Amino acid sequence: MDLTAPIAPPETEVVSTYRVSCDGSEGALGHPRVWMPIPHDIGWVDCSYCDKRFIHADYVEKHEAFMAELAKRDPKA
Ligand SMILES: [Zn+2]
Repeated sequence: MDLTAPIAPPETEVVSTYRVSCDGSEGALGHPRVWMPIPHDIGWVDCSYCDKRFIHADYVEKHEAFMAELAKRDPKA
């Protein structure tokens, strides 16, 4: 893990399918199970309930580049 990483979502999970489910069960705040498709043009999706981010394994590097790009922007804006 890169501890110098910029603002990251509360939790991320690398997955190998383009259809993921989340019920928030790993935290204290569970929620109804929802299924979400990962858009092929983006490569990841955030759970609308708990903000957990699911990243397809093929897009991990792209996601890291995206987060690095975000970090370059002024976070104080
Ligand atoms: Zn969730």
